[in-house]
Amino acid sequence: KPGLYLVGTPIGNLEDITLRALRTLRSAHVILAEDTRHSGKLLQHYNIKTPLMSYHKFNETQREQIVLRRLKQGEIVALISDAGTPGISDPGMVLAKLCVDENIPVIPIPGPCALISALSASGLATDEFTFVGFLPKHNGSRRKRLMISADETSTQIFYVPPHKLSQFIEEISSIFSDSRRCVIARELTKLHEEFWRGTLGEAKQTFSMRPPKGELTILIEGRENRKVESPSEVELENELRDLISS
Ligand code: SAM
Repeated sequence: KPGLYLVGTPIGNLEDITLRALRTLRSAHVILAEDTRHSGKLLQHYNIKTPLMSYHKFNETQREQIVLRRLKQGEIVALISDAGTPGISDPGMVLAKLCVDENIPVIPIPGPCALISALSASGLATDEFTFVGFLPKHNGSRRKRLMISADETSTQIFYVPPHKLSQFIEEISSIFSDSRRCVIARELTKLHEEFWRGTLGEAKQTFSMRPPKGELTILIEGRENRKVESPSEVELENELRDLISS
């Protein structure tokens, strides 16, 4: 069936790709890839010969019309990113929205996703979570985002570039309390996969001097559930109680 297929690809281990993903990539007319050289290796591994077209944040706008035209002609277009699920801290969101606006089918082909893998094995609450992803670049906005996070009761999930870990832990410990539990999922699905678990205070001691190498997903447990801290929360609590009792 024609449409835009968002295909999940491995986040490390090449075996983490579904049969449906492979079939979709084989039968597509074109594969849009964030980095054609990087994805070329995956496709070569599975002997997939579908033509590749580069699609990344720097040519997204330029590619839009070409891709839309091909989709309207009834082609099967597959989109993959360097790793994991397209559109999740990766290109894909803009194209998915354009297709939805134009009534072109958008079909997800589920596969690996670092945040979901990290969360499922973290040992932290999985029933409610907030994916923050990469923090904003600007110091002020980053601090503001972290303050919002610190107040949430759901598990908070961050993508952190390895060279930014010390800075991240410094910033976060100036806002979150030292006793919060924290999980650092490193190199998921790869040879050196590791889950570090401890409090934020311990993380600061352990990592501020020697940051670990590799890809990192960081999870922080939510604020304690029943603790009411600000006046607006008291108001909300009262409102909720009124609603329940009415
Ligand atoms: N689209 C991807 C997904 O579905 O997870 C995320 C892409 S984002 C550009 C890359 C970031 O995801 C990394 O900086 C890291 O925070 C996280 N990540 C990707 N692969 C990972 C892995 N194998 N282990 C831990 N974190 C990973």
